[in-house]
Amino acid sequence: MKLEKMPIRVKCDNGCCGNYAEFQVVRQGTPAAARLRLCRSCLKELSSLYGELLSTEVTDVGTNMGNGD
Ligand SMILES: [Zn+2]
Repeated sequence: MKLEKMPIRVKCDNGCCGNYAEFQVVRQGTPAAARLRLCRSCLKELSSLYGELLSTEVTDVGTNMGNGD
């Protein structure tokens, strides 16, 4: 999965956000039209929300991460 700059001008996919998307998630097997496209503001906020979530989660996540199987 890669994060790329948007080559075209489309709206951010995050609900009613009115900004234009600046980045898109390029994922193998996902058609261009179905890519997740986000503006810088939403991507930044999501990233910080995820960081907060990680810091409040318990450190022992068991084997659900799939990195040992
Ligand atoms: Zn947005």
